[in-house]
Amino acid sequence: MHRPGDHLNISRGILAAVVVLVLLPSTMLVTLGIRLMDQDRALEERQRRELADGAIDRTAVLLQKELAAIQQRFVSAAWVPPSGTVLLRNGQGHLLYQPSPTALPEAPTEPFVEADRAEFQSGDAARALALCTRLASSTSAPVRAGALLRIGRIHRKALRLDAALAAWNSLAEISAAAIAGEPAGLVARRARCRLFADANRPTELRQEAAQLLTDLYDARWPLDHNTFLLVVQQASQWAGVAPDVPSEMSRQAAAALALWPQRRTVEGALCDGPYTLIWQLDDALLAGPRYRAEHWEAPHSVHLTCAGEPVPQGVSHQAAAAGLPWSVTIAPDTAPLREFSARRAALLSALPALLVLICAVAYFAWRAIRRELGIARLQSDFVAAVSHEFRTPLTSLRQFNEMMLDEPSLAPEARLSYLKAQGRATDRLSRLVETLLDFGRMEAGRRSYQLEPLDAGALVRDISAEFSAEPLAQGFTVDCRTPCHALPVDADREALGRAVWNLLHNAVKYSGASRDILVAAERAPSGVTIRVVDHGLGIPLDEQPRLFQRFVRGESIRKLGIPGTGIGLAMVRHITEAHGGSVDLESKEGEGSTFRLMLPGRG
Ligand code: ADP
Repeated sequence: MHRPGDHLNISRGILAAVVVLVLLPSTMLVTLGIRLMDQDRALEERQRRELADGAIDRTAVLLQKELAAIQQRFVSAAWVPPSGTVLLRNGQGHLLYQPSPTALPEAPTEPFVEADRAEFQSGDAARALALCTRLASSTSAPVRAGALLRIGRIHRKALRLDAALAAWNSLAEISAAAIAGEPAGLVARRARCRLFADANRPTELRQEAAQLLTDLYDARWPLDHNTFLLVVQQASQWAGVAPDVPSEMSRQAAAALALWPQRRTVEGALCDGPYTLIWQLDDALLAGPRYRAEHWEAPHSVHLTCAGEPVPQGVSHQAAAAGLPWSVTIAPDTAPLREFSARRAALLSALPALLVLICAVAYFAWRAIRRELGIARLQSDFVAAVSHEFRTPLTSLRQFNEMMLDEPSLAPEARLSYLKAQGRATDRLSRLVETLLDFGRMEAGRRSYQLEPLDAGALVRDISAEFSAEPLAQGFTVDCRTPCHALPVDADREALGRAVWNLLHNAVKYSGASRDILVAAERAPSGVTIRVVDHGLGIPLDEQPRLFQRFVRGESIRKLGIPGTGIGLAMVRHITEAHGGSVDLESKEGEGSTFRLMLPGRG
């Protein structure tokens, strides 16, 4: 027979298998999902980049066209210059001289009052030098510039020429300071030239002056036009060369200078920041930041950056790659691309749906397997119970038979009682076989019912009397209550009788200490009710709903070791329903049970 532990182990095994079957595909699915999402994001990023690159290329072409159109305008207008190219310059620093150079911070006089007094009034050059040397290590560039200028001057006066040159050389490195309105670097270079000239050191003078000219032509310092011309002339003299200003650059600077006073009227531009000069010989367009922003940047949603300006965040093409005088930067749209976001949304909703599906399938599979196992268990219990039921009458048959064979001279009364006992065992066997065959037919749907008009009260009385005469009912009081009038029903006498018999048999089997059974038939609003009431063991509430299913037996009954096959109540329900009726049960554990068959009345 089947042990409860086995069932538990099998259930756990199935559960483990189902969990593995769920976990494995779920993990794979989730990993796959994450990978797909990553790939999708990378693809989106690439596409975004490609879109931005495409946008920049298109913008660059448009800007090139616009610049060409401006050039064309110069060419086709009445004031067209005969030939030449349109040149684009960016940033003030690149012009030889500025229409309005930015003023550099001036070296202050205040920190040097004491040093100047020592140098000029007290004639204490050593003290002046000491004071200036201290100030030369200041963190402020203008103060440093003022100090280095004075150190050079004091050394020069004391004829320490190399020391003076060294001080001015350091001064030449300072770019963010001015001395008396002139860039400190320029002041230093000129001072060095003067010293070489005064000291009659022509070679070094020429070298220094050549360096000064190079710096001037490189537009190293923001100078106004006059200063530029003056210094170029002076430096050329020192260098012993004719002034040789690069003509193109000179023209650009001249154009910027000429346009500067009209800067608010030229193409509506404002030119007080780094500006773009579109220049062609005598004609020029001076475009400031606002013009750039309004005419070139805004319509194309790009940012144009001159060399040296910080490039903003986004996808950028360098000036050379864009074919423009600026680097072009575009801030790609950060909103997710629709195609990708739709795909990801689909993936995100499909994944959980798939996971739910896997779990649901696994759950139903687990339930189905469990149910099948449960049925298998019930069937094996049934086979064991049926074998047991057969064994008892068969054993008694064999025993009586052997007793009669062993004692041929048996008294006739004893022989008669043996034969009667054999008869009872045979009856029991045949009833058992009949029951099983009947149950088999019901299960197969082959049990046919011969309905005939009959009196349910009379039937109950007959079955009750027959049952009371049975040995198994010995010691029990079966109280049969039926009305004196007939209770007409259409019923299969044999089948309905079997249903009532099964209920009476159960009432005896599960009677516990009680010996009173009631069977009653009575009229009911919808027909006829047959009741079988006992005061026996009763049935726990949680077991009641399943007891009418085939092979199902109560757990408490099973534990008590009361034999049974679990098909009695299933047959009762089958028979009642075949008569168009129903069966119900009321029971309380330890107090007894009432089974009620409700049958439709006749006519
Ligand atoms: P069996 O009696 O052979 O086990 P049944 O189908 O007749 O099978 O009954 C199914 C189960 O219902 C029983 O095993 C028992 O647990 C419970 N049962 C039926 N009738 C009674 C009753 N009168 N009192 C208590 N329990 C009952």
